[in-house]
Amino acid sequence: MTERLYYKDQYIKEFEATVLSCEQGKNGFEVILDKTAFFPEGGGQPGDRGFIGGAKVLDTVEKGEDVVHICDGAVEGSVKCALDFELRFSNMQQHSGEHVFSGIQHAVCGFDNVGFHMGENCITVDFNGVVTAEELARIERLSNEAIYKNIPIEAVYPSDDELEKYSYRSKKEIKGQVRLTKIDGVDLCACCGTHVAYTGEIGIIKVLSVMNYKSGVRVSLQIGRKAFEDYCEKNASVYAISNLLCAKTEEVADAVEKLQTRMKDADFRYAQLKKELFAEKSKNASGEKCCMFDDSASADDARVFADMLADKVGTAAVFSGNDETGYKYAVVSRENDVREIGKALNAALSGRGGGKPNMIQGSVAASKEKIEEFWKTV
Ligand SMILES: [Zn+2]
Repeated sequence: MTERLYYKDQYIKEFEATVLSCEQGKNGFEVILDKTAFFPEGGGQPGDRGFIGGAKVLDTVEKGEDVVHICDGAVEGSVKCALDFELRFSNMQQHSGEHVFSGIQHAVCGFDNVGFHMGENCITVDFNGVVTAEELARIERLSNEAIYKNIPIEAVYPSDDELEKYSYRSKKEIKGQVRLTKIDGVDLCACCGTHVAYTGEIGIIKVLSVMNYKSGVRVSLQIGRKAFEDYCEKNASVYAISNLLCAKTEEVADAVEKLQTRMKDADFRYAQLKKELFAEKSKNASGEKCCMFDDSASADDARVFADMLADKVGTAAVFSGNDETGYKYAVVSRENDVREIGKALNAALSGRGGGKPNMIQGSVAASKEKIEEFWKTV
């Protein structure tokens, strides 16, 4: 049974311990110490990382009453151990923030936290009821007020009698001694994780998004240092967009909307002009067959243009693209089955594509010169 130092003091960064066993496992060397400050994955909180002697601790997990450190090398005897405390502190901030947020949600809406996940980018909490946008905003504000009050976060170990009197949040039935995490006026919850000592250390709790999940909602949150990093990233983004659009930071969404409308109008006008231009280009086309090139037409344009051209000639082909990237093609005929042309075209010019008797589409990897040569054989 590993002595768990993090329950005595969650701020231990370095300690000395004795290696009790070290065995090669599936994911590395599995090291058990007589005592440890490394927190094993549990209750939604990831396992700690750091160093044991010269070996890197890749993960920490629980196995029965032991804490198993997954290491990249073998260790023995008396060892100096060091936690990646930046990671651990961030985990403590997020875990404690989750208590504050879920506790206040419970007081406001009365729903249970039925899922908790600390991911790389944010944490998610699942509640078994629908929390409205207004309620979320209120919970978020109250959560940050609780941070400003700098309330102690305590671990209490009640007797069975005391426990019966308490009203506390718990995700599952717990056997043996129950450890409650208590934040006065905010939360009381059975939890085995590590937390910061005061709510002030959480820093900030920010709701990112909410989505319907099962019969309730899944809320994504940014907490603590991760929230600060997220703020920096988003702030940089908004300022970059603001500079590009010459708009105030608080007006970038409006500016983007205006830009989108202008783009749509311009695209529409461009398509119209393109059609007019093509009509002009194909004005004098006549005869059995005709092939035209357009370097800026899309695959759809090529189809539309070939169709326009087919009103003038028997079989019409339009190739869009250039010699470097290859050409997209559309071949249309009102009279003939163009699928045979397609097969010959693909075979001669490393192409692919097909379609219906009166219209085929595809692409070829060949130069304009080769295409023109081929078209003479049609
Ligand atoms: Zn906890």
